[in-house]
Amino acid sequence: MRIILKKNIKNYNLDDLKNELVVLGEKPFRAEQLFKWIYCEKVNSFEEMTNISLELREKLNEDYEFIPFKIIKKLKSADGTKKYLFDLQDKEQNIIETVLMKYHHGCTLCVSSQVGCKMGCKFCASTCIPFSRDLLAGEIVEQILAVEKDENIRISNIVFMGIGEPLDNYDNVIKSIEIINNHKGLNIGARHISISTCGVVPKIYELADKQIQCTLSISLHTANNETRNELMPINKAYNIQELIKACEYYIEKTNRRISFEYALVNGKNDNLENAKELVSLIKGMLAHVNLIPINEINDLNYIKSTNENVIRFRDYLNKHGIVATIRRELGSDINAACGQLRRQNLKEVN
Ligand code: SAH
Repeated sequence: MRIILKKNIKNYNLDDLKNELVVLGEKPFRAEQLFKWIYCEKVNSFEEMTNISLELREKLNEDYEFIPFKIIKKLKSADGTKKYLFDLQDKEQNIIETVLMKYHHGCTLCVSSQVGCKMGCKFCASTCIPFSRDLLAGEIVEQILAVEKDENIRISNIVFMGIGEPLDNYDNVIKSIEIINNHKGLNIGARHISISTCGVVPKIYELADKQIQCTLSISLHTANNETRNELMPINKAYNIQELIKACEYYIEKTNRRISFEYALVNGKNDNLENAKELVSLIKGMLAHVNLIPINEINDLNYIKSTNENVIRFRDYLNKHGIVATIRRELGSDINAACGQLRRQNLKEVN
């Protein structure tokens, strides 16, 4: 008996798809037709691909499948931000969250890269439930397709700032970027894609060597190793100095400005001494700092900095030659803001 394990057609970038078609005895240009149907027309079946012969459609149907997500819930924030809960339709009944933010310059989608997270940052809700698995490239891309289709919009920016550590799922994330970026498909420019990491140093070097021009965001949160060890376990593997060295390499290779994320916690990393440490760490680097008053998470004991402290911190950085802005928090009323996304299970959301 032949057990047929169908493959998700959205896991392939255009070159992979060409190879798959050649193996089926087809001409590579068929892959471009397929790509167009999937990413421009957003079909979810081979039957709809009317310029492809019935024979090939049937052949494809035998080996490949479409696994569209089911929208379990869609929450809307007072500020217009929308959070989707997607059922991945897998046997573990995994659920992920994806957040859509509309700005005057376009729509940004915050995508998840894993179901859960292994990194264990103490202030982040994504680590509250055990890690389940990596997302495949097709599942990263599916978040964009599902939202574009549901809202009838075009997404212009992607940020890998949802659940998971993108550089801990490096191959699938890179593959998804190759798909997202392709001008024959979704056509979202690399400069409109941001990857955020807590500091998986070897993968930062690898990403730099790929030179794909996406923005790198570093979740730094403190310039002090002792505090960072306490807040972010990854720091024990790769400390701040190693992280900064990797960032300098990224800048050298890509000529792209790095974005440092700094969530301000009352009494932990928000006084002027802390700001001074940050200045001496990154002064002169091609970088800017995004300040985020920390979002308080139930069960986690971190308190937001006061507005006064946030402004004082920003002003100190600006005065000492570091470009720093306070990030407008979107979606906190529906738990869609930074650090509030978490893996859920079906029982919880029903
Ligand atoms: N794992 C990656 C991607 C997650 S992005 C990373 O760490 O960068 C989510 C961003 O929100 C990260 O910068 C993370 O540090 C930040 N974050 C986590 N918990 C937060 C909280 N409670 N308030 C504000 N930001 C938080």
